[in-house]
Amino acid sequence: MAKYCPQCNNENPSGADFCMVCGVLLNKELPQCPKCKEKYTKAADFCLHCGTALTDNAIEIQKNEEHRQIQKLKNDIKTFNRKLTEEQEIKNEIEIRLQKGIKALQNKNIELCAEKKEIEKKNGQLEKKLATIKETKQLQTMPKWFYIVALLFISISIAVLIMIIVGTL
Ligand SMILES: [Zn+2]
Ligand SMILES: [Zn+2]
Repeated sequence: MAKYCPQCNNENPSGADFCMVCGVLLNKELPQCPKCKEKYTKAADFCLHCGTALTDNAIEIQKNEEHRQIQKLKNDIKTFNRKLTEEQEIKNEIEIRLQKGIKALQNKNIELCAEKKEIEKKNGQLEKKLATIKETKQLQTMPKWFYIVALLFISISIAVLIMIIVGTL
């Protein structure tokens, strides 16, 4: 297994007793991660296995990172709330337009009903007029049989008249 130098973090062959880069003795006990007990080198700021901050510098970095994430979350919540408000406003706007549309349609419906009544009234008047016209037309135009009977009557009258004249002569 490779030996890591506790000072410069260089990877040395498993048989090495001293670091081949900085010459530090390699066999002394390495420090342990306080959380997972994994051994680490001096150069490590964070535990390779559990991410625990191992140096003051790393603790500072972790704090800053946590602070940054909290800020990001706060910003996300702000953005979300703003969007929610915007959506609510849009929804309200649509609701108002919808109500206006319904109102306009109801008014149009009332207008159309009034127009329909007006048209029905006019239609009734026209029908009455038409009936009157039909009646007068029927009176004006006599049926065909009336003319035939009249013609026959005149013919018979003439014939009778001729016969009377012939008879008296
Ligand atoms: Zn070294
Ligand atoms: Zn650890």
